[in-house]
Amino acid sequence: MTMQPLNCETCGSAVLVEKFSAAHTSVQWMTEASECPMIRDTARSLGDTRRGCSALHRTIDRAVARNELTESRIDLPDGPDVPRLH
Ligand SMILES: [Zn+2]
Repeated sequence: MTMQPLNCETCGSAVLVEKFSAAHTSVQWMTEASECPMIRDTARSLGDTRRGCSALHRTIDRAVARNELTESRIDLPDGPDVPRLH
């Protein structure tokens, strides 16, 4: 498990990001997520604080494109004897 530090390119919020795959990214805020101006504005107008910062998502995408954020390898055992999860 490798969390990598990243700053939102727009609001500068510091987060820790771990990318498992193109579709699965785990973001951990090092500050209150509500301190992000984007999230605060969304929360004020829509009353929804669970919305992410779109600028942060862009920052993450760009870091991935530049190979600054590498996908974590989850070590899955393979072979015929491994029980399937589903
Ligand atoms: Zn932000």
